[in-house]
Amino acid sequence: MKTADPTADIRENINLLRQKISAAASRVGRQPDSVRLLAVSKKFGPEMILAAAQAGLLYFGENFVQEAAVKLGDSRLRALDPAPQFHFIGHLQSNKTKLASELFDVIQTVDRLKLARALDTQLRKSDRIMPILIQVNVAGERQKSGVAPADCEQLLSAIRELPHLSARGLMTMPPYSDDPEESRPCFRQLRLLAEDLTQKGLLGINGPVELSMGMSGDFEVAVEEGATIIRVGTAIFGSRS
Ligand SMILES: *Cc1c(COP(=O)(O)O)cnc(C)c1O
Repeated sequence: MKTADPTADIRENINLLRQKISAAASRVGRQPDSVRLLAVSKKFGPEMILAAAQAGLLYFGENFVQEAAVKLGDSRLRALDPAPQFHFIGHLQSNKTKLASELFDVIQTVDRLKLARALDTQLRKSDRIMPILIQVNVAGERQKSGVAPADCEQLLSAIRELPHLSARGLMTMPPYSDDPEESRPCFRQLRLLAEDLTQKGLLGINGPVELSMGMSGDFEVAVEEGATIIRVGTAIFGSRS
């Protein structure tokens, strides 16, 4: 429902989402609280993040380093308690790693060794360890970022040698479709890949393995397939005009 009050809309959208997440989790015998709802706030201003945080959300996703830098400078956001966590979910250029490593709590889109090394170098200067996810291009789409599933093992082995990065899991974006069921094979493949990499000792070392998959159109299928983080924008904030 659209009202004149965006805070009320956001609150209602989040309540609805929580019900759908719970239902999807129960269908496959999962606990609803094993799924983290990451609110994708790209192209929305700090007041929308504030409204979502006041409705109880703790995790936010941003796609552009510069845009996030402006938003995260907002004093109202900085004053939030508990402090929200910001995940980077866009394509990261190696020359933006300094700012990205300062702004974000998690980087979900590491997909090449050059980028991992650049991040590690920046983080060394501040003596921090950054939790990261590996972005996997499961369907092998030419225009999309992400490491090929077959190259994931090699990338993770190399990242294991970088002391300031902590690989926590995998992230993917399936090919666009109106039908959420079309995403299922992709989500399943990501889960199987994560299981394989865990068995090989490359994931699951620093805590439970994270699977970041599912967006507004297909998060229920993603939860059924084992998502631990769903990235939802439109279904919380409305369409990005
Ligand atoms: C924009 C975006 C989302 C959210 O998409 P919605 O369809 O608005 O929920 C999720 N993940 C990534 C990587 C995105 O760029």
